[in-house]
Amino acid sequence: MRIGSLFGIPFYLDSSWFIILALVTIFNANSYNQTGIFGWLIGLITAILLFSSVLFHELGHSLVAQSQGIKVNSITLFLFGGVAAMEKESSTPSKAIQVAIAGPAVSFILCGIFWLLTNLLSVDNLLGNICLEVARVNLILGIFNLIPGLPLDGGQVLKAMIWKITNDRFKGMQYAAISGKVLGWFGIAIACLFTFLTGDLSNLWLGLIGWFILRNATIYEQVSILQKILATLTAQDVMMRKFKVLNGHSTIHNFTEEYILSNMAFPTPYYVASEGRYRGLLRINDLQTIERSQWENLTLNDIVHPLDAIPSVTETTPLFKVILNLEEMKEPFITVLSPAGAVSGTIDRSDIVKIVAQKQNLLIPDLEIQRVKQEHIYPQGLQLNIIAKMLQSMDT
Ligand SMILES: [Zn+2]
Repeated sequence: MRIGSLFGIPFYLDSSWFIILALVTIFNANSYNQTGIFGWLIGLITAILLFSSVLFHELGHSLVAQSQGIKVNSITLFLFGGVAAMEKESSTPSKAIQVAIAGPAVSFILCGIFWLLTNLLSVDNLLGNICLEVARVNLILGIFNLIPGLPLDGGQVLKAMIWKITNDRFKGMQYAAISGKVLGWFGIAIACLFTFLTGDLSNLWLGLIGWFILRNATIYEQVSILQKILATLTAQDVMMRKFKVLNGHSTIHNFTEEYILSNMAFPTPYYVASEGRYRGLLRINDLQTIERSQWENLTLNDIVHPLDAIPSVTETTPLFKVILNLEEMKEPFITVLSPAGAVSGTIDRSDIVKIVAQKQNLLIPDLEIQRVKQEHIYPQGLQLNIIAKMLQSMDT
């Protein structure tokens, strides 16, 4: 649900947020010895102050990111707090650290302000009590978020520090994600233990947060592994050499007699060469637009699409750029050219999926590989086009 925008950033409330708003309101309604409607109102006001604190925390991250030229797509409040969705990551580790600590810094500042207000108003009255609660929650928000495991802010700091030390941003994300996974399991274990020992079901909330951290850390880990594969492999590692080279001087008639009739079941890319040089790509669909009467007269050289006019990459093009190129094309495959300008191979989406799966020791059924080849869509759990877009945003 879109509520409005702050500093040009669209602000959303997720439906799950209303659950936590209700819980926090109920909890606070009974906290200040107030009763009836007034108690509920105090509960609601406190809850709104607390979630405004979360919102300011996210604004802290967002405004620093914006100052680095990064577009912030949205800020959303949901069950476990808030999230600011950014268009891309910071370009250097130091800038990434600045974005990561801006959130907790805002929380600590808010804690200070409300603690001062508490002292001014004295803790004995109702307003003072509410301010003390807001100060307390901001302190917890700041400290909790600095725990060094993804997806928490401390995890982002850890990631940037490892990135700075090793000069490998993928390694940074991978280790910070593993740290997040350990943290998530730890939270779940502690929650189970406490629930078992005390019988108090409120400990399950910690378990739920642990589960949330574990789930997100696992996604971060998978993304970091995929990013590394797509950034380090090149077209040469993925390409297939299954294409046919035809003589440019043979007529269309001869070509159809010889190849089309025998190879209908498995269309292979056809390239045309003459005088020892590659002339270009032959598109079978073109034949439908050429009069039959011309088939005896025209040669393949006459109807070929020159290599510089078809989508192509070089052998050393990083895999993620190959994927981005494929997304922009109508054709199901892309041509890989050697430094001398000859055809080295071709790449389609199924070739990429096979290699990526192999690198990760994933088993993808042949049927799924065939589906990718025919439908030109990546498998559900392996959206390589999205990972490639992320890498592109880091590259620029
Ligand atoms: Zn944060």
